[in-house]
Amino acid sequence: MPHQTQKTPVTTATPFIRMQQAVDIVNTSPHPANKIAAALFGRDTKTGKEFSVSRTNYWPAPIFEKIGTEARIGNASGTVHAETACIIAAAGATDGASLCITDPFCPNCAKNMAEAGIKAVYIDHKGFKKDFVARRAHAFEDMSMRICEKAGISVYELWRKEERLIPILQFAPSYAPPEDSPVEKKPFDAGPDKTKFLIAAKSIQSRHHSRKIAIALVKDASGSHEILTARTHPAIGYTMKADLGEIESPQGKYSFMLEPAGRILMHAARRGVKIADGFFYATQVPTARELVNITGAGLTSLYIGDLSKSRDEYGPQAMEELKEKGILSFTCLP
Ligand SMILES: [Zn+2]
Repeated sequence: MPHQTQKTPVTTATPFIRMQQAVDIVNTSPHPANKIAAALFGRDTKTGKEFSVSRTNYWPAPIFEKIGTEARIGNASGTVHAETACIIAAAGATDGASLCITDPFCPNCAKNMAEAGIKAVYIDHKGFKKDFVARRAHAFEDMSMRICEKAGISVYELWRKEERLIPILQFAPSYAPPEDSPVEKKPFDAGPDKTKFLIAAKSIQSRHHSRKIAIALVKDASGSHEILTARTHPAIGYTMKADLGEIESPQGKYSFMLEPAGRILMHAARRGVKIADGFFYATQVPTARELVNITGAGLTSLYIGDLSKSRDEYGPQAMEELKEKGILSFTCLP
């Protein structure tokens, strides 16, 4: 690996403290079998303030209350994974932040971490011993780690009592992955004006022709508004030119691609900006997984360009389930 540096000792106690924070809450996970917790910590790029947040995997309240924990939503479980939960709940920009996790992470969370600008991940050593991991080790090693390698995310096995870190993958802090399709951002002076937002969204959509995109209005800490626009894109660090073979042959149920709505969620976290509920437009129905995460992010309504189009049949199924229970509303905006 050309980007790897020599194994430098990590002197800060922070990952051990934060891992403890995750371990302390792991048993509060509502999941009966797979109890997982994570803690995210970093320094906000704009304010310089340190922040941290810890979460378990969980069912977003509206899903827990109205659908319950047994049913699948489309082909997705109704849970938000702990790592992704931390990213969407972070009180500061996640760009450059670190994550402590009780267990090895799935490829979807790996893609989310890359998109959210996470630079270091610490996994509790006990996480490698559990049965759950044995069953999922293949996806972790084959996909999650490959995604981290491309994105320049350092990964460590962490031993709490011994305060020891074993590098699994290590990058220089200066390493920057190639980025050929960043999320577009544009200042939006009209603020939360729905009519003007929808006019802007249609104009952006026409510039992108028939491509699948998502557009959202976001607000930063100073109250300024911006419009974010994202296309479908491979996980950060992958390029269609160089990595087409790998992208075209993913492992099992996972894909190396990130869908536009999910990218918007992660990019908003990366920059520490908040998505305005009711100001989210997608040209197609998001995937089932995206719709669950959108619910977890506290959004309640979406505009959709074409309600009959989606990556697969599960997006519209999830849409119907969430709509019927009054969890998410969908307005067609052709
Ligand atoms: Zn995950």
